Amino acid sequence: MTERAELLTAFDTLLQPERFRDYGPNGLQVEGRAKVHKIVSGVTASRALIEAAIAAKADVMFVHHGLFWRGQDGRVTGWMKQRLALLLAHDINLFAYHLPLDAHSELGNNAQFGVQLGLVGQSRFGEQDLGWLGGRADGGTFDSAQALSDHLAFVLNRPVALVYKSPKAIKKIAWCTGGAQSYFESAIAAGADAFITGEMSEPQAHLARECGVAYLACGHHASERYGAPAVAAHVAAQLGLAHEFIDIDNPA
Ligand SMILES: [Zn+2]
Repeated sequence: MTERAELLTAFDTLLQPERFRDYGPNGLQVEGRAKVHKIVSGVTASRALIEAAIAAKADVMFVHHGLFWRGQDGRVTGWMKQRLALLLAHDINLFAYHLPLDAHSELGNNAQFGVQLGLVGQSRFGEQDLGWLGGRADGGTFDSAQALSDHLAFVLNRPVALVYKSPKAIKKIAWCTGGAQSYFESAIAAGADAFITGEMSEPQAHLARECGVAYLACGHHASERYGAPAVAAHVAAQLGLAHEFIDIDNPA
């Protein structure tokens, strides 16, 4: 059992949200009870995750994608009303950290995605230094872009879209979890042989072919499943709270 305020301080100290220009508010997005004992972590504050947190008797949710984003019209109707009503009725605190959770050097989405894939980051690239550039942790290379794609599909257990099947060995690998299509050009400029992210939009397929850099899209959700549980488990251990990660499947 700890105080909500103490939990907020622990998350903020670890993730330093003040360092980022973000698309929504980081930290406590919806206030619940003041004394807390259990965190449920997940990728997105969807209704399914909120219902699962209620069933798990959590009083804290810790997510990457919260409820509030720049550009929303601000009305509490439809799906937004339903999600908020559930949180408020059950007095659950919703904590959300977006870019700060992507960026944390050991527990963040990019760091933990690298761990899953056996990659190690040597430097950063792109806007706000969110992209990671490195290679295999064992110092080896992938024989081809297809070999890297097969490895990704095996680790994540899902199909991967690969554009530009570079026949060359893949040594320098850039990655940025989620919807980081716009980081591709910076990855090319940084000298990457391949770029991995969650999603692909139409222009990147052409850029991949024209620049000779492999583009791998492995799913927004699939690439961002690892940061939230790593951070929540760390902070739960620090404050003596219970923690459970709940994955709500998402094909996107
Ligand atoms: Zn995301």
